[in-house]
Amino acid sequence: MISFNHVTKKYNENTTAVNDVNFTVEQGKIVVLLGPSGCGKTTLLRMVNRLEPISNGEIIIDNENSMDLNAIELRRKIGYVIQSNGLFPNMTIEENVMIVPDLLGWSKKEKRERFIYLMKLIGLDAEDYRKRYPHEMSGGQQQRIGVVRALAADPPVMLMDEPFGALDPIIREKIQDEFLEIQKTVKKTILFVSHDIDEALKMADKIMLLRDGEIMQFDTPSEMLAHP
Ligand code: ADP
Ligand code: ADP
Repeated sequence: MISFNHVTKKYNENTTAVNDVNFTVEQGKIVVLLGPSGCGKTTLLRMVNRLEPISNGEIIIDNENSMDLNAIELRRKIGYVIQSNGLFPNMTIEENVMIVPDLLGWSKKEKRERFIYLMKLIGLDAEDYRKRYPHEMSGGQQQRIGVVRALAADPPVMLMDEPFGALDPIIREKIQDEFLEIQKTVKKTILFVSHDIDEALKMADKIMLLRDGEIMQFDTPSEMLAHP
């Protein structure tokens, strides 16, 4: 579970990016943060894994204050997927996927088994892809790898910042469907940033509509459609 309690972010005197926001993402649910560029979506997400300091209020992740988690605990608890996949070009696919398990000191055997499991989730042959490099894969494949990399150490929470935004529409729809299937198995608690209403309606358990750093609406997709 992720809870925001009166969270405010001021970058400077003139810029309040997030203003006194309160909400909860329930266990195993996807909340999509939706709104135009500049409404505070990315800032909201980045405060959860402490890439941005919080000006006021607190964020609770599975009963722990985010400020009390050290760097390793943050990695263990939170998977992070960004639009540009963030894969390291000079590392193999397996090395990329196993960055967090490596940090956490997993054994070779544990890492190998986990890699095989993760590749199965996205329908890729682990042996075939193990030694490949990111540039040898299509954009869609790279983004699938970005997703399983975030899942690698099995964190309860996932932060996804327009994870499919850079893909062409046909691949995007396919990967959205695949991800929803994976979510049925992994049941992560997910904050998902989008500026695409169709994506939000498809992916969300609840949609949070943001404007100027404030919550305009926080409803299920069907409620959103009934009361736009
Ligand atoms: P996006 O909304 O896709 O994240 P932005 O253009 O808003 O893209 O932001 C890109 C980067 O620039 C982010 O790292 C953000 O923190 C930073 N940024 C955005 N607005 C400002 C600003 N007014 N001053 C300084 N940095 C900014
Ligand atoms: P979104 O992700 O919805 O596009 P952001 O969270 O990137 O919105 O930005 C929210 C507001 O905060 C915008 O007004 C943006 O210009 C500002 N902002 C973002 N990052 C910075 C930064 N590093 N420094 C100053 N202002 C920023």
